[in-house]
Amino acid sequence: MLGNMMKRHLNTSEILKFAEEIHGARTVVSALNKNIRHSITYREMAARCRKLANALERLGVTFGDRAATLAWNGSRHLELYYAISGIGAVCHTINPRLSAEQMVYIINHAQDRLVFIDTDLVPIISAIVDQLDDEITYVILCEVNEMPEHGLPNALCYEALIQQETSEYIWCDLDEDIACSLCYTSGTTGDPKGVLYSHRSTVLHAFSTILAFPNVFQAGVKILPVVPLFHVNAWGIPYTAPLVGAEIVFPGRNLDGASLYDLMNDTGVSSAWGVPTIWISLLDEIAKRGSIPEGLRHVVIGGAAASGQMIETFETLGVDVAHSWGMTEMSPIGSSGQLFLPESDLPMNEMLELKKTQGRRVFGVEMKLIDDNGDKVAHDGDGVGELYVRGNAIISEYFENPEATANAIDLEGWFGTGDVAKIDEAGYLTITDRAKDLIKSGGEWISSLDIENLAMSHPDITNCAAIGAYDPKWDERPILIVVARDGIKPDIKSIFDIIGSNLAKWQVPDDVVFVSSLPMTATGKISKLKLRERFWYHLHSKPV
Ligand code: AMP
Repeated sequence: MLGNMMKRHLNTSEILKFAEEIHGARTVVSALNKNIRHSITYREMAARCRKLANALERLGVTFGDRAATLAWNGSRHLELYYAISGIGAVCHTINPRLSAEQMVYIINHAQDRLVFIDTDLVPIISAIVDQLDDEITYVILCEVNEMPEHGLPNALCYEALIQQETSEYIWCDLDEDIACSLCYTSGTTGDPKGVLYSHRSTVLHAFSTILAFPNVFQAGVKILPVVPLFHVNAWGIPYTAPLVGAEIVFPGRNLDGASLYDLMNDTGVSSAWGVPTIWISLLDEIAKRGSIPEGLRHVVIGGAAASGQMIETFETLGVDVAHSWGMTEMSPIGSSGQLFLPESDLPMNEMLELKKTQGRRVFGVEMKLIDDNGDKVAHDGDGVGELYVRGNAIISEYFENPEATANAIDLEGWFGTGDVAKIDEAGYLTITDRAKDLIKSGGEWISSLDIENLAMSHPDITNCAAIGAYDPKWDERPILIVVARDGIKPDIKSIFDIIGSNLAKWQVPDDVVFVSSLPMTATGKISKLKLRERFWYHLHSKPV
């Protein structure tokens, strides 16, 4: 028997409407340049989103069309999130740090009709425009008098575009299962894979994130997403903050410790979210200045493992740390390290032990561990296995990529994360290793395979393996382990040249190490685990 409740769909535009009506005077602050900050209320922003919706429709954007963004964290980018999805189109966020080759691939794979670009990122698109569809319309995110030299066909100015529109627009009740946004994540095969979020998954993810971080999500609290809007929806903050009436402070493009410190201090940020690399530079700045930014109370650390030392330093400074784990494929929050009573009242040393784990699953995410034989591993704090997840904000398939889907989803419909973990009886998750062949540097993926494929095209290399090595700032940096042909080492520069020809600069390994042979697993694959054990401290010695 069905229930008798109304069927109103879960839509992202409902969040915007709610924020406008209930929290309309709350602000979104965006750092533009050093000391120049732009402020807009949710009420004003909602009106601009309606204008933008009219503009998009005038440009012919319709249901299911993809409109891409190449932009830093700022309020215009947030407007794009809501307006594009609100008219039933799909907001495709692009990571500006991708190599030209990867960017061409994803824009073409997504079949983007429009690309919205921040002014300083325009040269990235100008350089590849010949390899993109002629029909794409480019919109530069600036005022009329700020239009840069662009060399792009069909380039429009964002402010001119929306200025001519009326702010009358009625968001329709879209089927909640239609797509609202798209984000590509790097795969082991090299080609990025698309993750297509629905309105339903996005709204449900926002609800469960708010439940998982109750100390953070309160009206009036200022939240700083250092995590980019181009990386998995800035961990959902574009949706969670407006829902509870929290204010957003966007950092723009300057993410160094000093800029972040000043921004937090001046605007009274109390909760900041980002990857460990960001917090290393902020902690350096805090040490220099002798105090934390005024008002800072919480940091959420995710995207890569936070070290025990980092967590302890923040806690000693009086900043509550929630160490969390998640994935692009999970919208992304999978677990939260926010402690509740009675654990939050434990003595510091006991509390730290819990905070060093990746926390506990959030509502809507189920977890199972599977060992090498395909058997389930008990959640007893000892057993280790590959972590599988399922839930209403987790992918059921990759966007138009059946091969990647087949590799990722098991026969029971669970998604294999490629992370190796243990879970204790109280539900605390600890990520112990990574089964997938990727390197994560400063929160961004580098494909080992891409590096290896390029290196193998060098005539003097017979075999090689790219692995992550410990780096105090970036968590990991890639290094390349090489077996030279006939034992004669080629010039290292010639190896860097080959790799650098096709990868972004930050994806090129920091060092090349020559070995006589590579360790193999029982199944004849190169044992990355053994290489990681041996070379983990190759670039930097173990921290004391
Ligand atoms: P992404 O899809 O780029 O957000 O990356 C997701 C992956 O980052 C996970 O599968 C993990 O390998 C890694 N990751 C994310 N958060 C953590 C964490 N707190 N500790 C360890 N690894 C993490």
